[in-house]
Amino acid sequence: MILYFIDKLRVDAVEKSQQHIVAMVTKIDTTQNLMLSAIMDLKKDDSVATVRMNHYPSNPLDVKSMTKVSSTYSYRKNPITNKPEFHAGIDYKAPKGTLVYASAEGVIIKAGWDDGFGNTVQINHDGNGYITQYSHLDAIMVKLGQRIKQGEIIGTVGSSGEATGDHLDFRITFLEKYINPQVFIPLSN
Ligand SMILES: [Zn+2]
Repeated sequence: MILYFIDKLRVDAVEKSQQHIVAMVTKIDTTQNLMLSAIMDLKKDDSVATVRMNHYPSNPLDVKSMTKVSSTYSYRKNPITNKPEFHAGIDYKAPKGTLVYASAEGVIIKAGWDDGFGNTVQINHDGNGYITQYSHLDAIMVKLGQRIKQGEIIGTVGSSGEATGDHLDFRITFLEKYINPQVFIPLSN
């Protein structure tokens, strides 16, 4: 009887320590899972940051061509109609044929003619609310629906549409409203 009792005690002790070990392992597993999901979250954040970086507008022209601004985002007299109007973009004077670059990554949603803007390219920056527009182009070098990376060539400077000389008219809309491109791309002159 006593032997049985001692045996039972031993079995109980072994079971208890086994349970203890199982509990510890579970705790370690839980901690590891928490750490893993935290790391995954960090990685997700990282890719979000990368996407944001790729969509932050950069220069649509080479730096040298960015210095000759002929119209800012402001009221001005329309050079063709001579009537006052709000100019919702920035005009960069540049020689015909100067390369125009995608300001940020996205999809081409317009690559064609507009009566006022002439040859025009619009890029939707992957549904983040921003669209950039490049107008009065001489040549359009992209197609509707094409995926484009930041800095890729989309066309060349010209004076197509209602323009008095060769220049790039660069515009940004956020949620379909024009915003001043200077918010992202400070004037360099
Ligand atoms: Zn303009």
